[in-house]
Amino acid sequence: MTPRLRSALLLLSAAAFLALPSPAPADEGQWPPEALAKLGTARWGELSSRGLSLTAQDLWDGSGGGLLTAVIDVGGCTGAFVSEEGLLLTNHHCAFGAIQLASTPEKNYLRDGFVSKTRAEEVEARGGVGRVRLLSRLVDVTDRVRGPKSAFAKATSDTARYEAVERAKKEIVAECEKAPDRRCAVAAFEDGRTFQLMEQVEFRDVRLVYAPPRGVGDFGGEEDNFRWPRHAGDFSVLRVYVSPEGKPAAYAKENVPYRPKRWLKVASKGIAEGDVVMIAGFPGRTQRYLTPSAVANQEKWFYPLRSKTLSDLIAILAAEGKKDPDTALRVSSAIKGYGNGETNSRGQIEGLARNGVAARAEGEAKELAAFLAGRKDLPAAWAAAPAELEKVLAADRTGQERRFYLEEVERVSSYLGSALSAVRRAEERKKPDLEREAGYQERDLDRARQREKDLTRSLAPVAARRALAYLVAKTQAAAAEKPVRAFDETFGKSATVEAIEAKLAEMDAATALGDEKTRLSNVDAQPAALAASKDPYVKLALALHPDLAALRAARKETNGALLVWRPLYLSALEALRASKGKAIYPDANSTLRVSFATVKGYSPREAVTFTPRTSLRGVLEKERAAEPFAAPKKVLDAARAADFGTWADPTLGSVPVGFLTDGDTTGGNSGSPTMNGRGEVVGLNFDRVWENVAGDFGWSPERSRNVNVDLRYALWMMERVDGASALVKELLPSK
Ligand code: ASP
Repeated sequence: MTPRLRSALLLLSAAAFLALPSPAPADEGQWPPEALAKLGTARWGELSSRGLSLTAQDLWDGSGGGLLTAVIDVGGCTGAFVSEEGLLLTNHHCAFGAIQLASTPEKNYLRDGFVSKTRAEEVEARGGVGRVRLLSRLVDVTDRVRGPKSAFAKATSDTARYEAVERAKKEIVAECEKAPDRRCAVAAFEDGRTFQLMEQVEFRDVRLVYAPPRGVGDFGGEEDNFRWPRHAGDFSVLRVYVSPEGKPAAYAKENVPYRPKRWLKVASKGIAEGDVVMIAGFPGRTQRYLTPSAVANQEKWFYPLRSKTLSDLIAILAAEGKKDPDTALRVSSAIKGYGNGETNSRGQIEGLARNGVAARAEGEAKELAAFLAGRKDLPAAWAAAPAELEKVLAADRTGQERRFYLEEVERVSSYLGSALSAVRRAEERKKPDLEREAGYQERDLDRARQREKDLTRSLAPVAARRALAYLVAKTQAAAAEKPVRAFDETFGKSATVEAIEAKLAEMDAATALGDEKTRLSNVDAQPAALAASKDPYVKLALALHPDLAALRAARKETNGALLVWRPLYLSALEALRASKGKAIYPDANSTLRVSFATVKGYSPREAVTFTPRTSLRGVLEKERAAEPFAAPKKVLDAARAADFGTWADPTLGSVPVGFLTDGDTTGGNSGSPTMNGRGEVVGLNFDRVWENVAGDFGWSPERSRNVNVDLRYALWMMERVDGASALVKELLPSK
């Protein structure tokens, strides 16, 4: 790096978003809590005229208080505390894994639903929702991570820059976790232009309280996913438990319900079209500031390959699931996850084309080049950034297909996956804790053990080996130029799927990884013990490890370069937009955000207009007694008998089920509480409409709509259908 570049690096922006966000048009923007107070009086005045009666301070006071401290990170999803005794609301699809892990073919909660009428009946929730985090404080740590005196600023290679940032993050986390009961994380905002430490409390005893039958929670299945009109009751209820002393603790019988400092009230009245709402949650990833080649790569390469791969994997798992009910249960979460990813990929491809995202990115790139050419007062590194960034991205695309398949191999829930993580953990164990890769430190062991335990209930060996055989064959085909030696040696060069499967069947017969105890002991195994193992999967994992490690090393180098050029590129883009009176705001990064919105319909295409609300009437219209439109009899009976209790909406003449809002949301916002102007929960966000899947690349007032389930539907199910009146009383004490 030239000295000029080095000084430019330190000059990323005089106006990073947290210091100076200017109002975004309409309801665009996913606002970090700290940005709320800086939205400006005009914006707050406008929100108040729409019916919002809260202030920025009411939402987040910066010192661990405010309504947003009731919004909980539920591992890839969002939830919210809604009672003084720790009830947590989230989506059915977020708790899906936990419901599956608690189910057996005889006691199939996934199919039949789960209703606990007393505390004693609440069961342990495992999988992703088994650990939830409450954010108490955010601290800007940019200076420490990449300021003038940081190791990052002094580093002389891209890999060293990446390592410097990782090291700083781990040190900050370790210091933060010295305080008891904390689980901390450092999040990169704006691709690493700024960094924030998140001080969180992690709860490890979460229990399942209520889940509707799949015929309600997942009504419409993949056919309706990312679609409107929508009629899924995508909600579930969990409860957080702590030790009798009130401290976060692992699951134990004697634990007691947690009493949160803040919880959201459930609204006693429903919503209406035109109402203002707030959606608060943990949106995962948006991609709003991509270069032209990055957009093209997503549209033409990544999403098509993802769609094809996932649909092939679904077919494999579904065929196995048809063979027996136990396998069906074991593969259900994976099928659902792949299904969501596959539908999403198709939505992205269609939306990217329809919205002309590539052309827009090209237009902006040209405009940026002209702007920078005329602004010699701006740092030269900003002007260099677009081309440098494109170079880094182009280099990263070499071998991307091989990498894609290898990463899928690692992800498949299988004996090989378990062995690979043991081998990687053992390798990392050779280093001092702070030098180990994130995810492989002492602080991560507990989770690794939990994953091995969960595998006992979710692994379907035949389905897993068929999926693996498919991916191994694909990897070999994509790896002609850079063969994966471990695969060639184990299965033969260019092996057929059948031959690979036959070999894997032999390995399945010989492996000890079907035994939970063996897998658990591997979590703590030393490298020498694994090296001496005769287990065929451990041997394959050891042989494959160098290839995977090489991929990770290349990724580190790329990421180090991106840490230089992406923030510079963003700064340049920010200057361009500022010259036109527009602001940029940070892409989603799985941190807490708030989106303001209105209950509103939309027009997906000429002559078609969607109204924003659905009801039980629509459930009956869609019902066809066959998956995925097969609601349970008890629900259909109550709906047909118009047994609405007090939950019907007069304007709909029925119990409300879903509603649309124009929020700025994405995956990860699932389970986000949708609050009315007083901050009371009226629903839960769970999806977006088809035209808004590619909203990840840009918000639009015409098509950005997110799908919410109306809480009245959940309350109706609990009270009228399942007789869980104590639960309803706890959620709505005034009732
Ligand atoms: N249902 C979606 C998901 O979990 C949420 C969204 O994408 O808006 O991916």
